[in-house]
Amino acid sequence: MNAADLLTRYQTVKERIVRAAREADRDPGSVQLVVVSKTQSVEAIKVLLDAGHRVFGENRVQEAQSKWPELKAAFPDVELHLIGPLQTNKVRDAMALFDAIETVDRAKLARAIGAAKATAGRTIRYFVEVNTGEEPQKAGVLPGHTDEFLAFCRSECGLEIAGLMCIPPANHQASPHFALLAGIAARNHIRLLSMGMTADYPLAIQLGATHVRVGTAIFGTRETLV
Ligand SMILES: *Cc1c(COP(=O)(O)O)cnc(C)c1O
Repeated sequence: MNAADLLTRYQTVKERIVRAAREADRDPGSVQLVVVSKTQSVEAIKVLLDAGHRVFGENRVQEAQSKWPELKAAFPDVELHLIGPLQTNKVRDAMALFDAIETVDRAKLARAIGAAKATAGRTIRYFVEVNTGEEPQKAGVLPGHTDEFLAFCRSECGLEIAGLMCIPPANHQASPHFALLAGIAARNHIRLLSMGMTADYPLAIQLGATHVRVGTAIFGTRETLV
């Protein structure tokens, strides 16, 4: 895709976000677009950086390490979100590069992050991933275990959890999953909600998303499946 088309698509997503927020009686400034740049080239990402966008999501630590150090050096106010699974042996690498980790999904990982936090030397925001569809193959804490897990993160790992994240089951209506996530967040006094992707981000905004993670609507269909 050429730069002009990419910018047009980006602007269209931004406008839909504003519209969805207004329709839900929300301040459009309360919804952050996380541009999902996995599999995309540094050149394509630079087009959006030059246009002023600063918040991006990547789902693999290694891929992010190959693209983002140079981009972050050029654009120090970038906010990079990890939105894919994190192995405990990659925790330190992830904490050196990412500004938000959206996929805290198990006790072992929470412990590893807690242990590395003191030496990270930077502020990172953490989200707990919730497996709202209770899908066996999918990462995330089960909805019924989330209250307890959040308490564990705080008391046992010293981790303040800022948000919740979910990826609803494919080919299902997303709204019950977004509503479930919003309910868990509300009763635990958690402010941030990362939910909604290309197919359903206006709906997620209607149901309270503070972060929407959008890739395809901006960059087009990814060539490799991830
Ligand atoms: C790839 C990905 C997205 C973006 O999905 P699109 O449908 O391309 O917008 C959002 N969230 C996560 C966790 C992803 O892995």
